[in-house]
Amino acid sequence: AQAPVKVTVTGAAGQIGYALLFRIASGQLLGPDKPVRLSLLEIPQAVRAAEGTAMELDDCAFPLLAGIDITDDPRLAFDGVNVALLVGARPRTKGMERGDLLEANGGIFGPQGEAINAGAADDVRVLVVGNPANTNALIAQSHAPDVPAERFTAMTRLDHNRAISQLANKLKAPVSSVKKMTIWGNHSATQYPDIFHAEVDGTNAAAAVDDEAWVRDQFIPTVAKRGAAIIEARGASSAASAANAAIDHVHDWVNGTPAGDWTSVALPSDGSYGVPEGLISSFPVVSQDGRWEIVQGLEINQFSRERIDASVAELVEEREAVRKLGLI
Ligand code: NDP
Repeated sequence: AQAPVKVTVTGAAGQIGYALLFRIASGQLLGPDKPVRLSLLEIPQAVRAAEGTAMELDDCAFPLLAGIDITDDPRLAFDGVNVALLVGARPRTKGMERGDLLEANGGIFGPQGEAINAGAADDVRVLVVGNPANTNALIAQSHAPDVPAERFTAMTRLDHNRAISQLANKLKAPVSSVKKMTIWGNHSATQYPDIFHAEVDGTNAAAAVDDEAWVRDQFIPTVAKRGAAIIEARGASSAASAANAAIDHVHDWVNGTPAGDWTSVALPSDGSYGVPEGLISSFPVVSQDGRWEIVQGLEINQFSRERIDASVAELVEEREAVRKLGLI
């Protein structure tokens, strides 16, 4: 029998955690032949709730679930970890300054990065979901100098999936006909969903839409503000769709992206497309042999350039802010 893959989920008792854990345990994260061992990390006051979720996981009798550990100690949670899903974060509350937000998250993601550095398996892959995700990933990565930087990623897959759905809806085409969507930059309101390289049934999506005003005034803001629209409608933030995107991200990282398509991932820049090296920014990527590779050679028009630059400028500012706070 195969040794189980250790998957650590932080913020396991939260909304996204609840939507995520059952899918991991059922085999949807890694594949139907890969046993998993779950490690749930929570803050002390939420450990009891995580235990409740673990009871429900037991009650599913998932054949692939080899065991569940629950702890409030990052060192234990990340010891031997193969896949780390960093979901728990300090959300911005009313009246909170950005510096306070970054500082609070530095207190979470710094120690988690250290624990990953100290104990993770050689093949560890890290996905940060908790916001501000790109900068939280940067903080964790900077505390894990012995882990290759490229193993630290932040999630823009939900934005990517939202963009596919909006475009398919506009063109009355099935989502499966949309390929090569791209999210650039920060997972924030400045993100840039780019349809200039996307294809719908093999034809260029921007040409098929042929309506720059729709792209500028409808498509981009709808994708970028979708989270707020869901809170408004549901009375709670998106959880199942965020969990779904995390599953997609890790699944593709481990198993590869389909031929003729790519996806979007925030990962440490190698300088491609003028994004400063080391910044954790979203790019079009393919996954090959278990590694992300940035799609090269795309022509960036003026419309796209301005928007990529604006989102990257925000990331540069966030990096400066955490540098000044001594968090990286
Ligand atoms: P959720 O599970 O709903 O969200 C968790 C994080 O994911 C938030 O930072 C949220 O950011 C982020 N996120 C990213 N993308 C999305 C998206 N598309 N939609 C919604 N959220 C998104 O939060 P809960 O409050 O339900 O649960 C958080 C849990 O984390 C709590 O149980 C808490 O105890 C725990 N926690 C654990 C820590 C640890 O393990 N060390 C540290 C801190 C918290 P945003 O708020 O911006 O939406």
